Order: sequence, then structure tokens, then C-alpha cells
Amino acid sequence: MTIAGLMQENDLMISDLIRYAARYHGQQEIVTRSVEGPLHRYTYREAESRARRLANLLINRFGIGHGDRVGTLALTTYRHFELFYGVSGMGAVLHTTNPRLFEEQVSYIINHAEDRLLFLDIDFVPLVERLLPDLGRVEKFIILTDRDHMPETSLPDVLCYEELLAAESAEYDWPAFDEKSASSLCYTSGTTGNPKGVLYSHRSTIIHALAAAQNSAYGLSVFDVIMPIAPMYHANGWGLPYVAPMLGAKLVLPGAKLDGENIQDLIESEGVTFSCAVPTVFSMLFQYLEESGKKVGPLKKTMIGGSAVPRAMSQKFLNTYGVTVLQIWGMTETSPLGVIASPTPQVLALPAAEREEVMNKQGRIQFGLDIKVTREDGSPIARDGVEFGDLWVRGPWVTSGYFRDEGGRVLDEDGWFPTGDVVTIDPYGFIKITDRSKDVIKSGGEWISSIDIENLAVGHPKVLQAAVVGVYHPKWEERPILVIKPVPGQNLTGAEILDFLKGKIAKWWMPDAAFIVDEIPLTATGKIKKITLREQYRDALAPPP
Ligand code: ADP
Repeated sequence: MTIAGLMQENDLMISDLIRYAARYHGQQEIVTRSVEGPLHRYTYREAESRARRLANLLINRFGIGHGDRVGTLALTTYRHFELFYGVSGMGAVLHTTNPRLFEEQVSYIINHAEDRLLFLDIDFVPLVERLLPDLGRVEKFIILTDRDHMPETSLPDVLCYEELLAAESAEYDWPAFDEKSASSLCYTSGTTGNPKGVLYSHRSTIIHALAAAQNSAYGLSVFDVIMPIAPMYHANGWGLPYVAPMLGAKLVLPGAKLDGENIQDLIESEGVTFSCAVPTVFSMLFQYLEESGKKVGPLKKTMIGGSAVPRAMSQKFLNTYGVTVLQIWGMTETSPLGVIASPTPQVLALPAAEREEVMNKQGRIQFGLDIKVTREDGSPIARDGVEFGDLWVRGPWVTSGYFRDEGGRVLDEDGWFPTGDVVTIDPYGFIKITDRSKDVIKSGGEWISSIDIENLAVGHPKVLQAAVVGVYHPKWEERPILVIKPVPGQNLTGAEILDFLKGKIAKWWMPDAAFIVDEIPLTATGKIKKITLREQYRDALAPPP
């Protein structure tokens, strides 16, 4: 017979994070490159006070209640940070929308979520004006600025955030309620079909933040200065807006400008030690650093994920700038921390070449999540780092289904979530993503990893971005082709890059053709849009039947 434990059972609340930071790290700063231009700085104490005013505003002025959705179209700023806490803290659901999606997807998402209010940055006023005829359910539009910066707009009943906050009291007691209540909502980009909503809870958010704050995960402490470059609308800024207050660490928010100059300037002037972004953002930073001859002095470590980190990028970060790269694999559906390439003693003891090989993979599981990797018949693949299989995840910060039941039942009968990624797993427990299952290249019944080839190609000094997709081939069903965006100003031929790959990959992995282009299409989260490339190059080798 079990007996109940005698410990307190406080619900885990998102408001606990900001309350903790305000109480025990009250002087710690949050610095923002504001959308209006200048740097804005204040403390956790002031942030909490304004989040309380915001909670009062939502309740008293707009009648927002538990479970109501409150939308944002906003960048990485202190006002968005206040919304993270004010909205979830009072019991409503913060719905962050990615403003870089196709316009019809933005309105689809806002309508699907049934957002009652929409808080938007001045940058997105023209977008919302265009979408207005489709946004019938939104009751009020609140512009995230002060009176002096309110833009001319045709939006009806627009309100000014700073004016509204100023009129509210900062007296508010954060309520405690069921920790399993929904706290926030984030849609996946929906590269196929409509975007689907992942509905986080207070419990999942806190447990995810605790896991991310472990030393063996992001490896952070109160001594770090954290700058999430991954936007707050992309899988909650990878959890950092929650992890930083949990640690009491200084937070730097880069606002609208993610260009190399602003990023370098913030790192240097604010002493940023830790950051995170998708690889494409760091390609821009490198370009700026090379042109300007500047360095990223205080930056010690950066987390990179969202798509595979080219080995050349990790090496350049370490060898030229002294920055350690921590690769992370995750999804909106996993809050997003999935696996992370933090070392183990066993891996560090390997000979250099082997160690580098392992450390360059997406990473290993941390306590709290579990993974399985299976063949088509459901049996587990060999842990030999060679066999490919489907990756499944399970744990308290993994989704159990999509908002309003889109896509129906997604878990298998044992509660595993299918990630749609194809991976290998090695004896050290490190997984390596070889492809998204829909991007896998099947040539003569064998699989070719597009990511491996791309990684090698970007190792060529004249290559900025590389994409490999499978296209129709009359004999082999599919063959890989390579599409290259060169470093600006560099002359590069297809033959040159194919020559560079020779001997580095198996002969039958060699792309059948290489194309040099000015632009590679990217998704709203900065990943290569393979679906578009496959369409563009569908008859590159032979006309499909
Ligand atoms: P979106 O498609 O909206 O950008 P996500 O950010 O949730 O949505 O995308 C998750 C997917 O991104 C994963 O399933 C995986 O295919 C890819 N991904 C994430 N991190 C990595 C990584 N480190 N290496 C390779 N692929 C990655």
C-alpha cells in the first residue's frame, strides 16, 4: 500500500519566476535594444511591477479571464517579457505569433487561437492593417509603445500600451491555481498544411526551465549575461525568458535588429556571455565581424539549434573567437529543449578526431525526457551511430496533442511523440539528425543524409549556405542535388564545390549536380525551405513522370 508524502504541494506557477527574480535579484538588469531605437534598461523589480499592472489591466479594463487567449506580434523586448509574465501570471494564455510567417498564416493562427486582444510592436502595424478584414474576433489592438511613438494607423480603437499601464495599479497578488492550466500557446511553422498550436502549461514551463537550468544543459548561472537572439515568438525564445529570472541572471534583449552590428555591439557593451540562435543568424554575425575586424570578447558560449550546426561554424566560433558552441535539437512541441550536445567524461576521453565527431552531433538526453529510435516495424535501431531510424520523445515538457485537436491523436499507445526526424544514436547516447523524415533522400533503396553533405559543403571558404535535396531520377528514384549560396563577392562554380566534396563522402552520396544561386529560400524561423527547393529543381536531372 502506498502512503501519501507529507510535503507541501504548491502548484508550479510561471509568476513564481518573476516574483523570485524581483525579490531576490531585484537589482539585476534587463537591457533592451528598443524597437524605437535607444537602449532601454530596468530591473527585475521594475519588470515585475509592470507585469502586475498589466495583470490588472487585462482583468479590470478588458475582462480577460482564465484561459482567454491574449495574442502578441512582438519582438524580443522588455514589453514582450512583461507580457510573458503578466498574461500567464493572471491565468490567461499568452499566444505569441511569428510575424514573419506568410500573412494568411498569421491571420489563420490569430483566428484559430481566438485571441481576444492583440499586443503589437509598431513595426507590425502595417501588417495588422492589411490583415484587419480577417481579424474579426480581436476586440482591441494595443500598440507596444508610448504616446510619442504611436504611429498613424487605420486600425480601429488602437490603444497605447504605456498609457494603459500608467493608469493601472501595481498592487496585485499573483494567484495560485492548477499548475496544469494552459499558460501559453505557440504554433509550429506548418511547412506542410496549416500551423498547429502547442499549448504549454505552467507545470510544463517550470519543469522545462528547471531542466534547461541544469548545469549539464545550457550550463548557465547567475554570473551569466544571457541574450536570446532566437525570437520570443519562436518556441518561447528557447525558454531563456523563463530560465534567466529563475537564475537571477542579467538579460539582454536584442529587439528588432538581429544584424551583426547590433548583436556585436550588445555583446561587447552589455557583457553578454551566453546567447542562442539558428545558424543563419550567426552567419550574418561572422560576416560583420570579418568586415569590421571586431571581436565578441565577453561571449563564452552560444547555443545553436533549429537546424544542424555546420562543423565549420563551431570551429570558427572556437578557434577565431574563443566561443564554445553548444548544439541543441528541439521543437516547438518539446518546449523546445530536446537533446543538447553537452560533453560527458567518456566523450571527452576520446581521441581528438572521434571526440569532435561526437560533440558535433545534436546531443544527448537530459534527465526528464526520454527518447526511442525505431525502424519501420517499431523495433529499436542499433546504437552504433550508423543505422537510421525515427526519433520519438516522451516527457513532461512534450506536447500530448495540438490545440483544438488539430491533427487528431499524435502519440502512440505508449505515449511517445513522433518527432518526424530521422536520426542515428551512438554508444555514448548522442543522436545525430540525418534529416526530417519528409526530406530524406532515398536513392536506390538506401538513405542519404542531406544534412551531412550540407555540413561539409559549408566548410568550403567560399560557401555561405548550402542545401541538399532529393529530386527525381529515372534509375535511382531520387538523387541528391546541391544548391549553394556563395559568400558575397566570391566566384564559385558547381564543379569546384563538387570537387571539394570528393573523397569526403561515399561515392554514391555525391550530388549529381550543383547549382550556384543568389538566395536560398528560408522559412519564417530562418531554416532552409526544402519544400520550395524541391519544387524549383524537380526536373533538374530528368523530367519526372
Ligand atoms: P519550425 O518548423 O516552426 O521552425 P521547430 O522550431 O519546432 O519549428 O522545428 C523543429 C525541427 O527543427 C526539428 O524537428 C528538426 O527537424 C529541426 N531541428 C531543430 N534543431 C535541429 C538541429 N540542431 N539540427 C538539425 N535539425 C534541427
